[in-house]
Amino acid sequence: MDVLKKVPIKEQDPKVRAKNFEEVCLGYTLDEAVAEASRCIQCKNAKCIKGCPVSIDIPGFINEVVNKDINEAYQIINKYSALPAICGRVCPQEVQCEQVCIRGIKGDPVSIGKLERFVADWARENGIKPSQPKNKNGRKVAIIGSGPAGLTCAKEMAEMGYDVTIFEALHEPGGVLVYGIPEFRLPKEAVVRPEIENVRALGVKIETNVIVGKSVTIDELMNDEGFEAVFVGSGAGLPKFMGIPGENANGVFSANEYLTRSNLMKAFDSSYDTPIITGKKVAVVGGGNVAMDAARTALRLGAEVTIVYRRSEEELPARIEEVHHAKEEGIHFQLLTNPKEILVDEKGWVKGMRCVRMELGEADQSGRRRPIEIEGSDFILDLNTVIMSLGTSPNPLIISTTKGLESNKYGCIVVDEATGLSSREGVFAGGDAVTGAATVILAMGAGKVAAKAMNDYLLSKNV
Ligand code: FAD
Ligand code: SF4
Repeated sequence: MDVLKKVPIKEQDPKVRAKNFEEVCLGYTLDEAVAEASRCIQCKNAKCIKGCPVSIDIPGFINEVVNKDINEAYQIINKYSALPAICGRVCPQEVQCEQVCIRGIKGDPVSIGKLERFVADWARENGIKPSQPKNKNGRKVAIIGSGPAGLTCAKEMAEMGYDVTIFEALHEPGGVLVYGIPEFRLPKEAVVRPEIENVRALGVKIETNVIVGKSVTIDELMNDEGFEAVFVGSGAGLPKFMGIPGENANGVFSANEYLTRSNLMKAFDSSYDTPIITGKKVAVVGGGNVAMDAARTALRLGAEVTIVYRRSEEELPARIEEVHHAKEEGIHFQLLTNPKEILVDEKGWVKGMRCVRMELGEADQSGRRRPIEIEGSDFILDLNTVIMSLGTSPNPLIISTTKGLESNKYGCIVVDEATGLSSREGVFAGGDAVTGAATVILAMGAGKVAAKAMNDYLLSKNV
């Protein structure tokens, strides 16, 4: 075995997987996991821990994999994370723990994410559960939203003894983990639901179909229903559009709507009565993970798919692994290209998109080179469906219905970063509701920080 190289991981063949919704990555076997774990040199001052937003004891759990004590490896991870099978699959490890892994200086970093996934899958398949909280203090806290931020805050508060209730607007808990990220990257029944059940098993109640701001307000929860503190983890579910002509045509979707229909309403499963109309030729506008997910979903639903992105490949914000998988599966890329108008037929349906070529100028405020239109370079893409994936912002409902809750110009809740405390006493917030669209692990980190601060606040209130 070459210790400089990661133990390769099996994946479904691109030609086969382009036609199904089963998981792309097949995971390590025990022997492969032990071999990969043996590449870790157990650094004394482990940089990987500092690179992890929830500070998992990475060398500690990896060492237990080497010892083949996977139960212990799982219990170590579980002290820090409620969602290891999920994070092992979707966290951008290449810019976090693996980016700073000492092994990566000469050769490949240790495959930390794939090892985390192995441990969590093994624990689930072998019926191993996280340990239960011992003491209950009977004090009630409410969590709004059941995405990674809310679930993490709920786990931490339940472990500290609080009586925790999550209020979730949709009929199923999980946030983007269930309605956004597709099955072929993150299986719902096999992976997401069991990790949510582990949080529920700590005594956390999850009330679905409750839209806070409509069914009940934060003020009512705190003043009438006895919740002493509230954590808002309501995410950033409001899609952005370009504002170009033709955007209201039939056949134009936001990536959110497209993916929600596929994931939550099972549009990809022919045995359900909730199909989605996908034309034969689809363009996805945008270059992030969400755009890759929408493109790869449309491909699996039988379309020929093109990603349209105004900068170059270097600036694509999606994870490298996702871009690589999309290319392998046959997604086309029109880079340095910007849509100008969606062309509509006489019945109001999309028939094409007029685009213009771009070139990169000086760096803008974001540090990335600004795309500039090349005059006279217009061309038409022949299409039936356009999926807009241009980012999202928080839904204004909670802010507009809660007294004293401040937001910034992007519609995000303003909090003290160190504690997650908002401008309203007793109300904490974190995850995409505060940052706008970010990542699973950052949302989890924010849930954890807020839980600690909520506990401090409640203890001080008690005195
Ligand atoms: P969410 O996951 O959005 O959860 C918020 C929850 O709050 C939702 O369930 C919502 O229904 C609920 N809610 C909203 N308003 C109310 C209300 N008024 N009352 C009650 N409930 C409410 N990140 C990665 O790290 N890796 C990836 O590969 C990745 N891929 C992604 C792919 C897609 C398609 C998308 C959309 C995002 C992706 N992300 C990825 C980003 C990541 O999923 C989010 O950053 C993360 O889920 C944010 O967590 P959250 O808990 O803040 O919010
Ligand atoms: Fe192991 Fe890499 Fe972490 Fe060092 S930095 S302890 S080699 S995973």
